[in-house]
Amino acid sequence: MNAEIIAVGSELLLGQITNTNARFLSQHLAEIGVNVYYHTVVGDNEQRLVDAVQLAQKRADLIVFSGGLGPTKDDLTKETIARLIGKTLEYNEEALESIEAYFQKTGRTMTENNKKQALVIEGSTVLPNDNGMAPGMFAKTGDTYYMLLPGPPREMQPMFTNYGRAEILKTMEKIERIESRVLRFFGIGESALETEIDDILVKQNNPTIAPLAGDGEVILRITAKHESLAEAERLIQQAEDDILKRVGAFFYGYGETTIASELAAKLKEKQVTVAAAESLTGGLFSGELTAIPGTSAVVKGGIVCYTNEVKHKVLGVKSETLAAHGAVSAECAKELAENVRELCGADIGISFTGAAGPDPLEGHEPGTVFLAIARAGQQTIVHPLKMAGSRAGIRKRTVKYGCHYLLALLDEAEQG
Ligand code: ATP
Repeated sequence: MNAEIIAVGSELLLGQITNTNARFLSQHLAEIGVNVYYHTVVGDNEQRLVDAVQLAQKRADLIVFSGGLGPTKDDLTKETIARLIGKTLEYNEEALESIEAYFQKTGRTMTENNKKQALVIEGSTVLPNDNGMAPGMFAKTGDTYYMLLPGPPREMQPMFTNYGRAEILKTMEKIERIESRVLRFFGIGESALETEIDDILVKQNNPTIAPLAGDGEVILRITAKHESLAEAERLIQQAEDDILKRVGAFFYGYGETTIASELAAKLKEKQVTVAAAESLTGGLFSGELTAIPGTSAVVKGGIVCYTNEVKHKVLGVKSETLAAHGAVSAECAKELAENVRELCGADIGISFTGAAGPDPLEGHEPGTVFLAIARAGQQTIVHPLKMAGSRAGIRKRTVKYGCHYLLALLDEAEQG
């Protein structure tokens, strides 16, 4: 079954409210295997609503409406749909009684307008409104089903969950579940990742794999459809295993997580402490980590060492190093990481130095970054990075690189 959601309301078009109803309905329709192919938003205008419905009739088996069931003149959804499908509106006794009861309960006087809310499309199945007055409706003409739901989410959501959903299920011969899983990657570009898994992407059908790029990260959404939830999950797991075999080194987590929270969790799990010397990132790394509850156990501290004076005086970077190599250098990054580790008494010291732009720094182009990681008794690792983008983007991505390299290091230690 293919569906289209039509949200009716000028407030939506004016940007006064967000179309959260479409989101809710899409999620819940997907759960019962209904494919939602279009979201439409239309204002409280009869002709434009007619145009939207006529278009939807060509491309959907089920059209779900939200909004426009109220008592005022601009609420015109049911009148318009009834006319379009050649039906009349009739009073529904139960709805009328429930509206009267609602007025009695709230101690207000009922007007003629309110009675209008008990009008339903003839022959439709009425969906009770347990949280308001306007009943919903489910109707069929020809090959198309129409579901009319009220606009307020607190009325629409329980109506759909308690009554609407069951009506749709009754019309479906086979219920397919749609399950999806989101995998998050960092340290590899979208096109590089797609090249690595190109053959998996080409042959995809069930599950489907959709790459989404965001904020220097690559996100893959794996979606499987099957009557059995267990089978849908097996299909997803199989695809995930195939993908991670190729690009597992860049994978850091599932769903809505962030790379900083994955790092915080890993540091806690391993009981490893960290301290940061931040020039380029000016405290962003420490800020990200300490925003996560419970990180006091793993973040020892950090120093914003923006000027060479602070790098030298507070963090003990040698004057000769600064004179010979500059602050944007592997040598400076190395001393910063080693010294901040010692100064704070942490297991790991990490440092960030570089040119964030927009102007070059010490002759280095914006996006030239040195990130160093120091551990007791081990060789300090320096990662030279080259990035493009805005100042804000370079700083944010540098922080993510820091998390990425630390995670990789902790994983390596895990594998012995
Ligand atoms: P009412 O009986 O309250 O008039 P209605 O069915 O006529 O309900 P609308 O008048 O279109 O619905 O919208 C009422 C309220 O519901 C809006 O002010 C808004 O707060 C909320 N609403 C409407 N449509 C949506 C939507 N698509 N997503 C989220 N909220 C919505």
